[in-house]
Amino acid sequence: MSVAPGVRRIVAGNAGLMTGPGTNTYLFGLRAVAVLDPGPDDAPHLEAILAAAGPAIRWIIVTHTHPDHSPLASRLAKRTGARVIGLPPPDEGRQDATFAPQRQPVDGERLSVGDCQLIAIHTPGHASNCVCYLLERERLLFTGDHVLEGVSPVILPPDGDMSAYLHSLDKLQSHDFERIAPGHGGVMERGKEILAALRAHRLAREEKVLRSLRRLAGATLDELTPVVYDDVAVERHRWARLTLEAHLIKLARECRASERDGLWRPSHP
Ligand SMILES: [Zn+2]
Repeated sequence: MSVAPGVRRIVAGNAGLMTGPGTNTYLFGLRAVAVLDPGPDDAPHLEAILAAAGPAIRWIIVTHTHPDHSPLASRLAKRTGARVIGLPPPDEGRQDATFAPQRQPVDGERLSVGDCQLIAIHTPGHASNCVCYLLERERLLFTGDHVLEGVSPVILPPDGDMSAYLHSLDKLQSHDFERIAPGHGGVMERGKEILAALRAHRLAREEKVLRSLRRLAGATLDELTPVVYDDVAVERHRWARLTLEAHLIKLARECRASERDGLWRPSHP
């Protein structure tokens, strides 16, 4: 499916609670192709990418190394000889340890891949090695999991960091783009408004964390999760609990909450 002139999208068959309709793999160019986020190590998806671009694939780029984005890079590189670009996985148990980039993009660097120019923008937060890529020509921003369609991304500490996430949202606002092509879901118009809404959503959640802490006069993560996320389906609470922890870590760093023996309290009742 075409998402912009010279840019195609193939969706991996890994639809699910955390992956929405499945991971988006984007192909840039026709004669010399760059693959962005090859996706999970899945044979049918590998064959679909090869069928679409096969011998033209020269570069494999990843936005980050969660297991639904980068594991296919190694097999795809073996089949095509493509050069692998991305930041290496942090050692924290949730990342794709097989990912071994040959080139690490520097923040702000322009990558020439075939007839496309991409600006690499380091956006830690969802994961510390998240990189968004801006296709300047189309004013189209590829966000991986930093921005998703319809849901707000999970922040998984310790590698995921809420302060860094908000800072990265602000950083993206300074770039010139109009649309967002996320790691899961369809292309979104009015990208800057989406970033602003995401920021507002995070800060509203943070306020709710503080309000709940004050009302409960101290609570564990398990007690807080259903209170702070009473608007979120219970089957998502396992993940919401981790994002809540990311909020609490940020609040503790700002001396607005503190934890002792697993009990979180507000610093200012
Ligand atoms: Zn991710």
